[in-house]
Amino acid sequence: MANAGPVRIAVLGAGPVGLEAALYARACGLPVAVYERGQVGDHLLRWGHARLFTPFGWNASPLGLRALLRERPARDLPAEADLLTGRQFREAYLVRLAESETLLESMHVGCEVLHVGRTAAGKPDDRRPFRLLVRGTNGAERIDQADIVLDCTGTYGTPNWLGDGGIPAVGERAARPHSAFGLEDILGDRKDHYAGRSVVLIGDGYTAAATICALAALAEEHPAAWAFWLTRGPRGQPLPRLANDPLKERDRLAAKANALATRCDGNLEFHPQTVIDEVVCHGPDKGFRVAGRSNGKPVAWEVERVIGAVGSRPDDSIRSGLRKDEPGYYVLGAKAGGSGFLLRDGLDQVRKAFAALTGNPRLDLYGNKAA
Ligand SMILES: Cc1cc2nc3c(=O)[nH]c(=O)nc-3n(C[C@H](O)[C@H](O)[C@H](O)COP(=O)(O)OP(=O)(O)OC[C@H]3O[C@@H](n4cnc5c(N)ncnc54)[C@H](O)[C@@H]3O)c2cc1C
Repeated sequence: MANAGPVRIAVLGAGPVGLEAALYARACGLPVAVYERGQVGDHLLRWGHARLFTPFGWNASPLGLRALLRERPARDLPAEADLLTGRQFREAYLVRLAESETLLESMHVGCEVLHVGRTAAGKPDDRRPFRLLVRGTNGAERIDQADIVLDCTGTYGTPNWLGDGGIPAVGERAARPHSAFGLEDILGDRKDHYAGRSVVLIGDGYTAAATICALAALAEEHPAAWAFWLTRGPRGQPLPRLANDPLKERDRLAAKANALATRCDGNLEFHPQTVIDEVVCHGPDKGFRVAGRSNGKPVAWEVERVIGAVGSRPDDSIRSGLRKDEPGYYVLGAKAGGSGFLLRDGLDQVRKAFAALTGNPRLDLYGNKAA
């Protein structure tokens, strides 16, 4: 590798997978620096009011639990079967890991990695260290170096566009700062923002399902409220029901959202087979015009709020100077996982990345649990 010592690993993002990758590096005896632009578990914090579908035992790893218990054997940890909210999981597990003796000195919280490239020639391509342009907590930029980069920056920070074909609808780019994306805390922090309002909700995944259930519950207290739920999919039930879904809460949510859509009660209209052409904001807190086509026919709504629950995508601008298959640059976690990614898939990604980067295909620090 580039320097004479052990390979230096840079982990981008201190979400659950970034922290797991850092634990794995430490367990291999490798120096690691974790860069986090916000707070530890920042994306989980944004939807932290919601409960995870997966129990704590699926979300925590043997390395993580060992690191926490080694430090304080009597530590109070959630039970394996506990279904925690995002916030609870972050506090009970992620924050404690970041503050543990194992990781504390590796953490660079409040430091954003802006770009990653390779140092100039002089050595074979894959032996040239990576150069990371980092913006530190004081706003000043600096260059750090690493031999291996593990990009665990997730996708929640870059929501998909609402327009037909996955591109911005007309007016959407200007409307974006005034619209909401992802999982809003409709019955909590954001209650006042939505109470008694007309809302267009776009999307047909579990985030949209949780949102429509919350809007329907809020409408019971505030009868003036009205929600228009727009999805691209066919008529009938918007959420798929997995046969014998092992995640009972996920299935319960799908059933509840489907019932709301098909009954269309709770001050709700469901419009399947609808694509969006236009999202125009009339000004801060002045409402929106949302227009498109439903079953080929033009449709339009004037509403006070817009919520996009259409998923999110990887932002690759950070590595724009590198080849797609750059040796030594690994993309892990939700950013590599696609829709339906679960945290326990991340364990396997981490194990495989370290087997590859250490050149030891048999390396498996999880034993039987994750193999
Ligand atoms: C609403 C919702 C519910 C979910 N429920 C479950 C569930 O029940 N069970 C389950 O297993 N999975 C669930 N998931 C899926 C998945 O587990 C989570 O998305 C998880 O947060 C992914 O972890 P990650 O570490 O890959 O990325 P993230 O948690 O997204 O972490 C990425 C981190 O990188 C940081 N970052 C981004 N860019 C930079 C940069 N340039 N420099 C430095 N830092 C940066 C971010 O601030 C963030 O902290 C859910 C996802 C969502 C959105």
